[in-house]
Amino acid sequence: MPKVMAVNAGSSSLKYKLYQMPEEKEICSGMADKIGHEDAAFILKFNGEKHVETLPILDHTKAVALLLEALVKFGVVASLDEIECVGHRVVQGGKYFSKSAEFDPDTEHKIDILTPLDPLHAQAHLLGFRAFKKALPNVPAIAVFDTAFHQTMEEEDYLFPIPYEYSVKYDCRRYGAHGTSHNYLAILGEKNYGAKRIISCHIGSGSSLAAIKDGKCVATSMGLTPLGGVMMGTRTGDMDPSVMDYLATCTGKDVHELYDIFNKKSGFLGVSGVSNDTRDVEEADKSGNKQAQIASKLFARRVADYIGSYYVRLGGADLIIFSAGIGENSAYYRELILKDVEEALGLKIDYELNSKIRGKEALISLPESKIKVAIIPTDEEVMIARDCYKRIVDGRI
Ligand code: ADP
Repeated sequence: MPKVMAVNAGSSSLKYKLYQMPEEKEICSGMADKIGHEDAAFILKFNGEKHVETLPILDHTKAVALLLEALVKFGVVASLDEIECVGHRVVQGGKYFSKSAEFDPDTEHKIDILTPLDPLHAQAHLLGFRAFKKALPNVPAIAVFDTAFHQTMEEEDYLFPIPYEYSVKYDCRRYGAHGTSHNYLAILGEKNYGAKRIISCHIGSGSSLAAIKDGKCVATSMGLTPLGGVMMGTRTGDMDPSVMDYLATCTGKDVHELYDIFNKKSGFLGVSGVSNDTRDVEEADKSGNKQAQIASKLFARRVADYIGSYYVRLGGADLIIFSAGIGENSAYYRELILKDVEEALGLKIDYELNSKIRGKEALISLPESKIKVAIIPTDEEVMIARDCYKRIVDGRI
């Protein structure tokens, strides 16, 4: 039975999951955290046990060496030869990738030149890939892109109304994100609910919505970068672009400082002044904190607005899906959003059932609802594992 490794390398962390395929059985998972520090952590979860070690992990090469050592030490694999493919999550595939790709020098080069579009992750993905390549030189590697699923959008859905030459010359357009998750949700939405027109709401610390028709993305809320779309944990989402210029004049801050604030100090954190985590904001909201209350309503309204717009874009809808940290766990935010759209869309929701669902799949709409509404936990790693398995079976991706 082939084993495949799904990897998500960030600048200071490397998350992994080992699967047995084609059963999609998760064998072990874990992460190296605080890479680059003396007090980094290495975590491995296997057979119901969690092994945690604090030690210096100065780079990704060391993190991968520790991981491979641990797999043998804890008996997860008898030999590293059992790992037949490594799949790497890559946030930005730009215009180059509409599906997963062999992680060869050409892919490496394209990810590298896409760095300006994803300065936070691109180089980290390459570090993760190179570390695995060094440790397992003969094991095939693939790149699975968050943007690939959105490449089916039409020009009028992905272009910004800026001078056309900028769109062409600088590839400045909407790419979207969370595509692997939206794709997973679309597959389950069709399989479990027979839905052809799906509005999927991946709402977590980063949030995006997608409009999906016959398994293909027609529109998505994130833009050139994951800053666009709905309000998020620390990100603004869409705003009038003149906010940048106006605040630069008012505060004396430059564009880069403000951009950083729009990315890291806005959203739930900025509006509520409490936290970027909706668990804290919800608590503050319920105990009467006015800023937390407006943050909750602002978020719900933004998500509701996108649901309405995608309902129109799809010519109706068969299914609305809630997923990711907030969508899967927070009955409160699901209810706020649904209350904003139910009248216009003819939804009938079992709010009693909604209040009980946390972290598991459930249909929360009533039979008389015009559109089904479901909670579906997402699984981006299993999508990476599936592509790895395809690579093993077909010899190419
Ligand atoms: P990421 O974008 O980092 O993958 P997640 O999808 O895991 O984020 O979402 C994390 C967010 O989800 C948290 O910041 C919090 O706002 C929310 N969240 C997570 N668990 C819960 C919970 N049990 N109840 C309410 N909200 C939750």
